[in-house]
Amino acid sequence: MGHFLSAQQQEPSEESSAPQEKVPEEYVNQDVSSPRNLDVDLSDKQLALIGDIPLGVETSNWELTLINRENRIKYDLNWPLETTAGDQLIDQRILRDFNAWAEQAEQDGYPMQLISGFRTIEHQENNFNHTLNGYLSQGYEQEEALEMTYRFQQPPGASEHHTGLAVDIIGQDFHQRGGGLTREFSEEESYSYYLDTMNNHGFILRYPEEKIDITGVYFEPWHYRYVGKENAKFMTEKNLSLEEYHALIEVRDSQLGQE
Ligand SMILES: [Zn+2]
Repeated sequence: MGHFLSAQQQEPSEESSAPQEKVPEEYVNQDVSSPRNLDVDLSDKQLALIGDIPLGVETSNWELTLINRENRIKYDLNWPLETTAGDQLIDQRILRDFNAWAEQAEQDGYPMQLISGFRTIEHQENNFNHTLNGYLSQGYEQEEALEMTYRFQQPPGASEHHTGLAVDIIGQDFHQRGGGLTREFSEEESYSYYLDTMNNHGFILRYPEEKIDITGVYFEPWHYRYVGKENAKFMTEKNLSLEEYHALIEVRDSQLGQE
């Protein structure tokens, strides 16, 4: 059951691209295979991990695609999508692993509530503006309202959900008790279960509490990102965010270039 974006969104013409010009030009880096230099300062302990990076890992690997506020996309990627059992779109390349995780979780007594998968830039723009306008209408100044919005929303073009490789998940029981995408989810047993099992299925917790300074995103116990099983295990064991992992691979490459 393949699901692709409409033809209108696939090939942006000069005209159809116009509404998306709101993303500032200087932040736009459409080539997701070569993100900007991240200026991540790696510790000596992290740099010592270079020799342990799994073979064949490159920053250009699709499963390591990096999208954040410094690496925004201007147009939707149009990667092939599939519908999950939870009726959300995700990248078809991760469907099998995601479904296996969801099935295992269900069997183990922690059924998932999948809240969100793939989002278009336009969808993200609507979400972002909705939140921003909410704060503005409460009387906050523009700058303050923006700052508060960034805590929960990425601006259009800067959300990992544009890749189809990220999922927002909470426990079904938590959801049924009225829980949503909030920090309180981190106190749930299902959260501990997802943390323990995510790597086996290729996922990482993308925005942990201790990485806020690096990811620029507040702690999101519900947001999981597919990076492949080998990368997921390595990154979680070595406590590397995706930004740090990219930086580490870049250092490895620059050292190789010098030999
Ligand atoms: Zn998310």
